[in-house]
Amino acid sequence: MAAYAFVDHAYDVVVVGAGGSGLRAALGCAQAGLKTACVTKVFPTRSHTVAAQGGISAALGNMGEDDWRWHMFDTVKGSDWLGDQDAIEYLCREAPKAVYELEHWGVPFSRTDDGKIYQRAFGGMTRNFGEGPVQRTCAAADRTGHAILHTLYGQSVRRQVEFFIEYFALDLIMDGGECRGVTAWKLDDGTLHRFRAKLVILATGGYGRAYFSATSAHTCTGDGNAMVLRAGLPLQDMEFVQFHPTGIYGAGCLITEGVRGEGGYLTNSEGERFMERYAPTVKDLAPRDMVSRSMTIEIREGRGVGPNKDHIYLHLDHLDPAVIHERLPGISESAKIFAGVDVTKEPIPVLPTVHYNMGGIPTNYRGEVLTKAGGDHSQVVPGLMAVGEAACVSVHGANRLGSNSLIDLVVFGRAAGLRAAEVVQPGAVPDATPAHTEAHLDRFDRFRNASGGTPTAALRLKMQKAMQEDAAVFRDGPSLQSGVDRLAAIWDESRDIGVTDRGMIWNTDLVETLEYDNLLGQAIVTVNGALNRTESRGAHAREDFPDRNDAEWMKHTLTWLDLQSGRPVIDYRPVHNFTLTDAVSYIEPRARKY
Ligand SMILES: Cc1cc2nc3c(=O)[nH]c(=O)nc-3n(C[C@H](O)[C@H](O)[C@H](O)COP(=O)(O)OP(=O)(O)OC[C@H]3O[C@@H](n4cnc5c(N)ncnc54)[C@H](O)[C@@H]3O)c2cc1C
Repeated sequence: MAAYAFVDHAYDVVVVGAGGSGLRAALGCAQAGLKTACVTKVFPTRSHTVAAQGGISAALGNMGEDDWRWHMFDTVKGSDWLGDQDAIEYLCREAPKAVYELEHWGVPFSRTDDGKIYQRAFGGMTRNFGEGPVQRTCAAADRTGHAILHTLYGQSVRRQVEFFIEYFALDLIMDGGECRGVTAWKLDDGTLHRFRAKLVILATGGYGRAYFSATSAHTCTGDGNAMVLRAGLPLQDMEFVQFHPTGIYGAGCLITEGVRGEGGYLTNSEGERFMERYAPTVKDLAPRDMVSRSMTIEIREGRGVGPNKDHIYLHLDHLDPAVIHERLPGISESAKIFAGVDVTKEPIPVLPTVHYNMGGIPTNYRGEVLTKAGGDHSQVVPGLMAVGEAACVSVHGANRLGSNSLIDLVVFGRAAGLRAAEVVQPGAVPDATPAHTEAHLDRFDRFRNASGGTPTAALRLKMQKAMQEDAAVFRDGPSLQSGVDRLAAIWDESRDIGVTDRGMIWNTDLVETLEYDNLLGQAIVTVNGALNRTESRGAHAREDFPDRNDAEWMKHTLTWLDLQSGRPVIDYRPVHNFTLTDAVSYIEPRARKY
């Protein structure tokens, strides 16, 4: 192996990722007086959070009565009772505080006539425990993530968070089950860096790009999740992948659920508003898993639209063009560019598209990563936290409600900062020896010099197609077994991977190869978890096991990856059926009807 030298850094806290969750966590740590670095592979305001459109949920009650307990009920029901209720209570109770904090920091929310934060209806968000839609989703037109991310970046710079931009994090520095930092490759000058820290907070986002068609950015490769697997720690509930009902047909870009929140609706080839049949109370504002399944059934039964009857129409042509112009300018532009459609006159062709990962790094509601080896899976891994889409707290359980991710980012980003202030003592940073980073360099060097015959792009396409075909909206035993087998074969074929650029500076071939390797491990964990879970719950819809089975399956899946064989090892954790305070009590499971 070539000799590599590290540039050394020492911090109280290193946050990996500068999306909404990473910036909020970094800001909190800096506010607490901790010396904080934020390492990010893309410029902070280019993180995928920038693309979030529809809004951020919080029971502010600006557009009619609301209550955080109703928000909690909706989130538990949306999660199909896989969410941990202590964490969901924390999310919904703290949500208004977190949104007002964003407002005071300068997020330019849309306003009501009397100057309050504008809120729109979103899927699965209801009044009085399921009576009908409520307007709970706070919005800055249809560019809410853009507004939040830019504000948080400004505030982080103001608080002296030190940014390391276009640094690609490689692996966690682990010592006897504790995390002591992270290594990274500086993309523009080719240097390698070792960040020693008392606490690492992973905020690396989701891994939508394991699939062929996803609304997420090409950078959403779940690098932090893969670092956790390589550190010998498990991922949780990875079989739960959200398909957003309204990706633009062909292009896969998102059309926000806010369109339906503003009065838009779906139709089939007969012009029928079919959601009235599937969800009589909330209709087009049913949760995403249900709408995606209903659309898939319409298409399968021959009622899709277009020459091949393979998609569905989303109408907003009946809405006042002034409302569209004010509240939905971004998606009007996307529909024009990617579907050639003038939304004031024609419907948008749409299809369910991979959008969000409910699964991720298991944490408690304070952001601390679980589970240190040898315990009952509730032990905290010292020195390691995770927040945002990378984490599985778990508040979204088997299905996330729209606008509940942005609030998850800021509530748990804030919680991580508060917890860091309690557990991190400023002062000397623990040492790391070369032995701690040997495996990081071996992996890096192996890919850099990989001279096989199969280009990364060919392997990645195979993986993405396998996931798209075999772990889709509906699954069954044979399709999932096929997915398991195909991915195992791709794991083996990956030994023949070929990288052509041997350089250290702006080597995008190597970046994409490291990202592909990260994705492959997560794809394997996802499809194996899905084959293993013989029930239907939330986004995991098995045609061979169509019912939810609480007696056997109301539990979280934990999956480790054997790095030699590429085979998963599965175990379980109980779902938390308790609350944090007496303000609410445990919400008992029931049938999930809307
Ligand atoms: C198109 C779209 C629209 C959405 N709209 C909404 C919405 O309206 N409401 C809602 O609640 N949710 C929405 N979501 C979901 C939500 O936006 C995301 O779940 C959320 O923004 C993820 O934020 P994050 O902080 O976890 O990570 P991201 O914003 O994805 O950021 C990840 C960060 O990690 C860094 N990173 C990753 N890997 C590495 C590495 N190896 N080294 C260094 N840095 C690394 C990246 O540079 C980046 O800064 C939407 C998602 C999409 C795709």
